[in-house]
Amino acid sequence: MLQIEDLSVKTGDKVILKDIHLYIDKGESHVLFGPNGAGKSTLLNTILGNPKYEVVRGNIYFKGHDITDMPMYERAKLGIGISYQSPPALSGVRLNTLLESITTKEMNRINEMAEKLNIKHFYERDVNVGFSGGEVKRSELLQIYAQNPDLIMFDEPDSGVDVENVELLGGIINHLLDKDKKPSERHKSGLIITHLGYILNFMDVDKAHVLYDGVIACSGSPNEILPEIIKNGYERCVACSRNKK
Ligand code: ADP
Ligand code: MG
Ligand code: MG
Repeated sequence: MLQIEDLSVKTGDKVILKDIHLYIDKGESHVLFGPNGAGKSTLLNTILGNPKYEVVRGNIYFKGHDITDMPMYERAKLGIGISYQSPPALSGVRLNTLLESITTKEMNRINEMAEKLNIKHFYERDVNVGFSGGEVKRSELLQIYAQNPDLIMFDEPDSGVDVENVELLGGIINHLLDKDKKPSERHKSGLIITHLGYILNFMDVDKAHVLYDGVIACSGSPNEILPEIIKNGYERCVACSRNKK
């Protein structure tokens, strides 16, 4: 589904990402850990084609197409979607109007998901205007559900969310990524950024990576990497992976 080869990225004259290799198969979901400022959001924005970020080396392939120089809207049409960390407020655009314009599904299915996400009573409100942190995240998930992309990237879907809502969001992300289906029926792929890891208790992820100072410092099973980070911090985890090489 997604193949990133030897990618380096800069913004302005600052190189943010270096030598990134990443492969995500159809039906697979990966989680990306790393300290603030490591370049996690930059990686998602680069995959999406945000023109603020310049690819100085390497290639990005999606469903076999080289999308390295493709504009953002074409990538979206090919099936790449994102749930933003902090999306902008859209004054004058009501949530139901936005959903109707982006949806690939029947509106009654969107309404059902809106009920599950407890966000339906926001339909008449302007998107994200005066929404709380958790309401923004729930509205992002609903938009993703409507848009129905094949590769879904989630930038900190759990930040600013009440503890009692993390289970709800984790379960819905799991559903969006086909993880509640049999392996042979999984068509979606995911890339999820989380600081906390708690949300992973409610989701099925296949692989974890630690992004540290713009480099993928280690990769492996989420069940091994997360406890290591919690116990020893990112630095120790990075040092361990260096020693193993
Ligand atoms: P993370 O998501 O891991 O916290 P980011 O990808 O947001 O990290 O940022 C990585 C680094 O790149 C930070 O030092 C940040 O200040 C810098 N950066 C990101 N976007 C921009 C931008 N548009 N202009 C200048 N610097 C940026
Ligand atoms: Mg950050
Ligand atoms: Mg970020």
